[in-house]
Formats: sequence, C-alpha cells, structure tokens
Amino acid sequence: MKNLIDKLFETQNLLPEEFKQLIKGRTSDLAQYLFEKSRQVRFENYDHDVYIRGLIEFTNYCKNDCFYCGIRNSNSNADRYRLTQEQILECCRSGHALGFRTFVLQGGEDSYFTDDKLVNMIRAIKSLYPDCAITLSIGERSHESYQMLFNAGADRYLLRHETANNEHYKKLHPKNLSPENRKACLFDLKKIGYQVGCGFMVGSPYQTVDNLVEDLIFIKELQPHMVGIGPFIPHHDTPFAGQTGGTLELTLFMLGLVRLMVPQVLLPSTTALGTIDPMGREQGILAGANVVMPNLSPTTVREKYMLYDNKICTGDEAAECRFCMQKRMEGIGYEVVVSRGDHHSLQ
Ligand code: SAH
Repeated sequence: MKNLIDKLFETQNLLPEEFKQLIKGRTSDLAQYLFEKSRQVRFENYDHDVYIRGLIEFTNYCKNDCFYCGIRNSNSNADRYRLTQEQILECCRSGHALGFRTFVLQGGEDSYFTDDKLVNMIRAIKSLYPDCAITLSIGERSHESYQMLFNAGADRYLLRHETANNEHYKKLHPKNLSPENRKACLFDLKKIGYQVGCGFMVGSPYQTVDNLVEDLIFIKELQPHMVGIGPFIPHHDTPFAGQTGGTLELTLFMLGLVRLMVPQVLLPSTTALGTIDPMGREQGILAGANVVMPNLSPTTVREKYMLYDNKICTGDEAAECRFCMQKRMEGIGYEVVVSRGDHHSLQ
C-alpha cells in the first residue's frame, strides 16, 4: 500500500480502484506514512505558514432544508438573526486589527441579502480594507448574481459540493436541490474568475468508500483552489439527529490524500475537526492542511449559527480565538502569518 502513496506523491493521481484500496485498507502505520508525504508537499509549497481567515457568519436564515444542517429552514427551534452592514464592517475592523487579511462571509441562503445589498457590502469592505480578500460562502445563486458580486470585488467563493455522487446527494438533500446544479455553480464560479473552494463532509449518512473516491475524482476534475473537508456531526434538531458522525481518523486520511493529489491546494483544518477532538485542528495541520478559520462573528450570535451540535468557540471574543489559534499553531511548530494567503498560482 505504501507504493500507492508513493505513486500518488509522484504523479498526483491514482486510478479509482487504487484510491479505494488505500482508503479501505488504511491502517495507522499507513496514515503516518501518508502524513509524512503530505507534510513534505505542504512544506515545499507553503513552508510552515498557516493562513488565517476571519469567518463572519452573517445570517442564519436559510430557504433550504438540507437534512444534515442545523440552520435548515424547517428547524423552528433555530433562533434566526441577520447582521447589519454596520455589524459586519465592525467585524472586519476588529479582524483587520488582529491581522486578518481575508474575510469569509458565510450564511444560509437568505433572500433578504439581494445582489444590491451584497454588492454594497463588498464595495464597502473593499474600500475600507483594499489589502484584504473577500470570500463568499452563501450557496447557489444565478450566474448573473455571481458575476455581479465578482465585479463588486469578491475574490473567492466557497461552495462545498457535499458529495460528488448524485444518488448520495439526493439522500442528504430535499428534492428541489440538485447535484447537477451545485456542480454547475462551481464550474461557473471558476470560469467567472473566482478562486473556488469545493469540499465534502466525511462520514455523512449513507456515504460509502466509493463515494469518497468519487469526491477525490471530482476534485481532480474541478481543480479548485481550496477544498473544505470536515467530519459530519449530527445536529439534534435535524432528520439526521440519530446518525453517527464522521471520524477524526478518516477525515485526516482524506486531508492527506487531497494534499498529495492537488499539492498547491488551500486546505483548511476545519472547526468541525476541532469540535470532534480537542486537538483536531492541530492534527489537521499535521496531515497537510494549511488554513484555519477562526470566528469573527459577534459573540451575541455565535450560539445561533449552529450547523451541528457542540460547535466550539461559541463564547470567545474574536481576539481570543485569534491568539488561541496562534498558540495552537506555534505549539506544533507552525506559524500564523498576516497575509491574504492566496493560492500559490496567484502569488
Ligand atoms: N449556505 C452555504 C453555507 C453552508 S454552511 C452553502 O450552501 O454553501 C457550510 C458547510 O457546513 C456546508 O457546506 C456543510 O458541508 C457544512 N455542514 C452543515 N451541516 C453540517 C453538519 N451537521 N456537520 C458537519 N458539517 C456540516
């Protein structure tokens, strides 16, 4: 099996059967071997730098009803909120002072935030902080909308594909959401000129090893700039409340494979990873990740952006999260840098 990791390291690709064999046959020894290689590739491309992104969760209203998500439309126990433009700019102000040079605006699919409102917001952030990148993570929109937001100054867009397998996608989403549209949005975003992030949950209900292989092959095809991978974690007010969550071990293994397959990719060590294990984010970095996304949302709304149960850091101020992250990264020999942290093909 080590020969397959060597092959992936050398050629950045494997046959589907080979990926399957690796994932199915993984052991802790094999994982250690994979992580040695994935760290080596990470050092060659990004040294020991860790890029930080300030996450601003600006609305938890959502018209969608994804079966796994705590802010799904039919969760009537969710306490809904929207941040005002002033509140969002205040998050950016404190974030900039803390050394953030990327702001990630994430939210549910909230029709209150029209193109006009978002364009104004993006322009306002860009005129105050021209040295910063803006990442949007607000779901599926029309081509015209994506183009307008890009023209207004948005740099990047995160839209996890969730699962590359169409049948599996339908088991995680209601009928009105289609895997074809989600994927088409990703290709469209890339064509418009965004730095694009896709991604998937590990251990989502009904996921098979074949599905994970399809996720890898989809990533190879899309060639995204970023890939967000985190474990599925059940939320008590969703149809998947009683399902089992994804494991740290498999999530780390997938991070390692993605680093070898797309060496320059921006790979976050996610909050969900930190939620299932107190050292999860550190371990993600040691498996090849190079990005962390501390929370900049006001503490008053943190508890309300509950995608899954037991989400960490809901009581901490932005500054606490920022310095906690720095200490954690230094603790494993890495360095948080003040930088936009663009993909290396763009630096
Ligand atoms: N509305 C945006 C943002 C969604 S939230 C969009 O559609 O892209 C960001 C990500 O959180 C989702 O893409 C999903 O992969 C993840 N997520 C949602 N619920 C989750 C859960 N229960 N466990 C783990 N991750 C979850």
